[in-house]
Amino acid sequence: MKVILLGPPGAGKGTIAKALMQIDGSVQISTGDILRHAIADKTDLGIQIEAAMAAGNLVTDDLIMSIMEQRLLADDCKHGYLLDGFPRTIPQAEALKNLLTKLGEKLDCVLELDVPRDVIFDRLTTRRTCTNCGEIYNVKSKPPTVDGICDVCGHEIVQRDDETEEAIENRLEVYNEQTAPLADFYRKEGLLVSVASSDLDPVLAAIREHMDR
Ligand code: ADP
Ligand code: ZN
Repeated sequence: MKVILLGPPGAGKGTIAKALMQIDGSVQISTGDILRHAIADKTDLGIQIEAAMAAGNLVTDDLIMSIMEQRLLADDCKHGYLLDGFPRTIPQAEALKNLLTKLGEKLDCVLELDVPRDVIFDRLTTRRTCTNCGEIYNVKSKPPTVDGICDVCGHEIVQRDDETEEAIENRLEVYNEQTAPLADFYRKEGLLVSVASSDLDPVLAAIREHMDR
């Protein structure tokens, strides 16, 4: 499958992407994970974006597009990909459209997870993330077996810098202003599948219905 996952921070894009990946072998491409790795590795890119990311602001379209132009050429994309956190602005969506035309590729659908704001806020403030593999935990609903340690890879689990209440407020605002308009963009392209849940079953049902059409 070639799918874009759309939805506010905390909607469950990463969790759904990981589940879909198991089902059909598509690779999850999370721009957030790529950027966090760059920061952890202190690369030039990482140093450049660290402050913007900690505040919950977007990284520039040019930077993101140069990352994604490379990423989508990699061999593991041949079996399909789940774009998690990209595109996030109309210019990114337009640039992606041109890129896919150039590569001769077509998206199957754009999956919008339409989850209420209070659910999201609660989820984000209790969320913890593995610094190495990106696995998501939750202090209330999904704690790791050993406190602070990732069950999957054994690395440290932390609360992200951009998961303070202030940064979360800002990320939700940035989402509403810059990313939410993508739903209309993709509705016009006939690609939008909107689901008012982040549970796997209704999501799968909606994707299958769209793809059978
Ligand atoms: P979430 O979807 O939970 O907000 P992500 O891990 O997708 O978290 O993104 C975290 C941060 O990474 C964003 O707040 C932003 O600073 C940056 N980022 C990720 N993807 C993009 C993108 N496509 N364009 C611009 N900035 C991005
Ligand atoms: Zn891990």
